[in-house]
Amino acid sequence: MTDSLDALNNLPLRDDLRGRSPYGAPMLEVPYALNVNENTHPMPTEVVEAVTEGVREAARSLNRYPDRDFTELRSELAAFVGHGLDQNNLWAANGSNEILQQILQVFGGPGRRLMSFVPTYSMYPLLASGTNTEFVAGERAEDFSLSPESAARQVADQQPAITILCSPNNPTGTALDPEVVEAVYDAATSFDGIVVVDEAYAEFARDPDRTALRLLPGRERLIVSRTMSKAFALAGARIGYFAAAPAVVDAIKLVRLPYHLSAVTQATALAALRYRGRLLANVEDIKKQRDRIVEHLRDLGLSPASSDSNFVFFGGVGDSHGLWQDLLEDGVLIRDVGIPGHLRVTAGTEEETTAFLDSLDRHIERRR
Ligand code: PMP
Repeated sequence: MTDSLDALNNLPLRDDLRGRSPYGAPMLEVPYALNVNENTHPMPTEVVEAVTEGVREAARSLNRYPDRDFTELRSELAAFVGHGLDQNNLWAANGSNEILQQILQVFGGPGRRLMSFVPTYSMYPLLASGTNTEFVAGERAEDFSLSPESAARQVADQQPAITILCSPNNPTGTALDPEVVEAVYDAATSFDGIVVVDEAYAEFARDPDRTALRLLPGRERLIVSRTMSKAFALAGARIGYFAAAPAVVDAIKLVRLPYHLSAVTQATALAALRYRGRLLANVEDIKKQRDRIVEHLRDLGLSPASSDSNFVFFGGVGDSHGLWQDLLEDGVLIRDVGIPGHLRVTAGTEEETTAFLDSLDRHIERRR
């Protein structure tokens, strides 16, 4: 380990990357992996078959580059998100991580700032450092909520080129009121800032009207980022997308690599979109498991946040790292997000959720 660290530090790295750590969610082989907010429900057989058929067809033309502008996929995504959007408003990439990276490549960079409100998705500072953008950590209230006034004031003070609002927020799980997005947008337009709402978990929200998609008309600097990794159970396929004004899509084309979205990826996404009814039915079951976790944790006297996502963030644990370890010894891997007294668990299938709750019941008294 030290040898490889020495070897890394001996490389002629960019100064701003020295001493940084890569994204590091543990990848352990365990019976119950509930740590990275994946969709744990098995892929329905008819979807496996549709994807296989789509990929088989695409394989016939793999000697050619794919459709660089993936027009069919963009128009199917537009039909899925609705809100009067068309393919000129849509863009896709290899996961919403790549979507966010492309946005930073265009609107961030040296001398510019990215602001977000912590605790939030741990990739934002890493995406900032990768694009040589300064990361500014905005603050939330003690209960991790964010009011329109506080968010707008902090954005006005810092004047970031890009503000990312994560809603529902990872790791806390709660969706923002649309008033927060509106207030931040109004503050950011006074200095020509871009506002991104990262809605990776939007399909799990209790109130679907909270989406920032409905704020897009007339807001040319607003970008709503989404992913097929969670609700569509396609984390392994790497497909994220955003909706914004057509000029934003044109701007992204300045930095995207040519043919970044492979023919195999496009075929996979199209097949999954055709079966969205089947895939989104699993979302309803996941929401049930999530609500079951929230209720059970409340009964144990813990403090789970009200969740609009496929995971639950909870506090009130005395020794959170000890509890994390106890669960792991029972084969249940959840996430220690580094906030003392708090842990985060992904809602699994009914069986996985039961395994988590049973293990928790066994250990919680000792770790209060
Ligand atoms: N945004 C948020 C808030 C996330 O939690 C994640 C994944 N954990 C992502 C974006 C990235 O997802 P993907 O690249 O798989 O679309």
